[in-house]
Amino acid sequence: MTESKNAGQPEIPFSKERNPTNIQPAKLTADSKLKFRCHPGVSCFTACCGDINIILTPYDILRLRRPLNLTADEFLLRFTTPTYLEKTDLPGVKLHLDENGRCPFVTEEGCTIYPYRPTTCRYYPVGMSYFHPAGQENQPAEEFYFLIKEPHCKGHEEPNEQTIGQWRIDQGIDESDAMNQGWMEIVMRRKSFGQQATLSEPAKKIFFMVSTDLDKFRSFIFESSFLDTYEVEQETLDKIKTDDIALMMFGNRYLASSLFGTNDLKIRPEKIKAKVEAHKGSQQDAEKKAEETYRELVAARDEMLKAKEADK
Ligand code: SF4
Ligand code: SF4
Repeated sequence: MTESKNAGQPEIPFSKERNPTNIQPAKLTADSKLKFRCHPGVSCFTACCGDINIILTPYDILRLRRPLNLTADEFLLRFTTPTYLEKTDLPGVKLHLDENGRCPFVTEEGCTIYPYRPTTCRYYPVGMSYFHPAGQENQPAEEFYFLIKEPHCKGHEEPNEQTIGQWRIDQGIDESDAMNQGWMEIVMRRKSFGQQATLSEPAKKIFFMVSTDLDKFRSFIFESSFLDTYEVEQETLDKIKTDDIALMMFGNRYLASSLFGTNDLKIRPEKIKAKVEAHKGSQQDAEKKAEETYRELVAARDEMLKAKEADK
């Protein structure tokens, strides 16, 4: 096995319990050497597939559904638990463990869905993080790796040595990262706002739907008033009708535009006009109300003065 509760992945969106004392205090690069091997012969084989907290990315869900041949609904119901992504108010899902706290896909022989395993499982025992030097928040973040060395993991005692870059290729991490990138950027961007800025409930629902249930998202695009609001190129529409990966990428554009107001998706001009008119209307209503209140106050004051005069 190549995974555990402390498995890698950019740490930002994942709410893994991580014991910091197991993280080696060295910043590594893709050229750094990694002495590690996990195989069925290690005495701890599959020990790390229990008591875990594995957040699933949209691509993880899509990839896992393939061998299981399940709809998004069925998969979510059987294999996931709702959770919040680490240090954010963004709702997501994590792998649901069985009554013994074990991964539902582990057997004595190992991982039954190994070619389709989640990104987090692929990274372990390597972690990746990003660093922004102070005052350079607008610059691209520096990416670095670190090693997680848990006492129970005997893979570190194996003689095999390779670079972290080679490890990434072996584990299929490059492909996973490329697929996760757009979604990860949204999560990181949201995280940078801090927890004071809370998302509205409808925005949370949209994030959850796009991140976990592409079947529902597809119906939402083609069976609601979505296309009355957004202008989407015909080529994209044709693609996302049947192509799940294209739909997932389109979902990232939609999330960026609806959560952060980016121009990733174009809102139809008539919709913008209607919104401006509605805003104008409500402004006019408010002005009218303020005027009425003012007139009422003046009338009340005049009444009071009249009563005072009468008392004299
Ligand atoms: S998905 Fe596979 S590798 Fe990951 S925890 Fe489960 S059994 Fe282990
Ligand atoms: S060597 Fe480490 S990664 Fe492999 S099964 Fe053992 S605990 Fe898990």
